[in-house]
Amino acid sequence: MIRIDDLPIRDELRGKTPYGAPQLDVPVRLNTNESPHPAPEALVRRIGERVTEAARDLNRYPDRDALALRAELAAYLTRTAGHRVTTGRVWAANGSNEILQQLLQAFGGPGRAAIGFDPSYSMHALISRSTGTGWISGPRTEDFSIDTDAAVAAIHAHRPAIVFLCSPNNPTGTALPAGTVLALYDAAQAASRDERGALVVVDEAYAEFSHHPSLLPLIEDRPLLVVTRTMSKAFGAAGLRLGYLAAAEAVVDAVQLVRLPYHLSAITQATALAALEFADTLLTYVEELKSERDRLVAELTAIGCEVTESDANFVQFGRFDDARAVWQRLLDRGVLVRDNGVPGRLRVTTGTRAENDAFLDAVRAVTKEISG
Ligand SMILES: *Cc1c(COP(=O)(O)O)cnc(C)c1O
Repeated sequence: MIRIDDLPIRDELRGKTPYGAPQLDVPVRLNTNESPHPAPEALVRRIGERVTEAARDLNRYPDRDALALRAELAAYLTRTAGHRVTTGRVWAANGSNEILQQLLQAFGGPGRAAIGFDPSYSMHALISRSTGTGWISGPRTEDFSIDTDAAVAAIHAHRPAIVFLCSPNNPTGTALPAGTVLALYDAAQAASRDERGALVVVDEAYAEFSHHPSLLPLIEDRPLLVVTRTMSKAFGAAGLRLGYLAAAEAVVDAVQLVRLPYHLSAITQATALAALEFADTLLTYVEELKSERDRLVAELTAIGCEVTESDANFVQFGRFDDARAVWQRLLDRGVLVRDNGVPGRLRVTTGTRAENDAFLDAVRAVTKEISG
């Protein structure tokens, strides 16, 4: 049988494993930071209407520039992120992963490198590699925050073309202060090998869950600062595949050089527009999830776990001698959490109250087992 490595694939892909969080059919699935709430019935019906309308034009290619959708995304950001954003400063794609890929295709590539501060979102490194962009793993502190001086030093040492920041950070839940982002932005420009500067991407996939305001206002007067968002988490629409960015108009022009023609289907655009009509309802779910997240932090701490403060819809907890073994014991009790490879730690997504109770019961039982 012929194997991948027998094929003439690119050297940087050889021996690599694909992204693959387990998709297991267990009673309590808390491993991929999805919303536990299905779309409300009224939204499901509205999607039906809008998709039906779009279906009547399916013989035609969709709006290549997704102008109606980008206008609504801009309005949503303006309403919720404390900063006025125009349609021309917003771009949308199939999940924020495609947004990240387009940014790397336009601003990264062979001969250039990107830096991130690990542990962070593994796709930043994976998409960098798949676009031929070098990857540099920058430092985080013991408590999973970013030490500004150490990060500035790493940027000066490596002179990357792209800096990835993730706030709130996945998998730790840690939010970044605006001061750190500004210091790293300035460092990236000063250190850049290219006199035109370096791109700084702030991945705000979990912004809606944060105790802190969005970093979006920082894009003003910073043409190389990009904020990425997604409808996968706060909008409870992971199945939709819709991500977006806000930045200077020139950045939006740049990603249009690499996007595939008609990359965003008419069905996707219609569905996303329907979901945006229900933004206020969906944000009430976010409020409920935030208080459940805070409850998870409190209860895990009470159980005796070491818990990382979280601004996202998940919580990192430990510290275990063998996190993989704890992961397996929780799974044996029907609770699927995530092992992100952070030594001694696991990550749990906030579920419904009942799911969180089932998770907490399982943790109590497993910690008793392993200590006894
Ligand atoms: C979940 C997540 C995303 C979302 O990716 P989509 O492609 O929009 O589903 C992006 N960034 C981070 C840090 C995430 O955790």
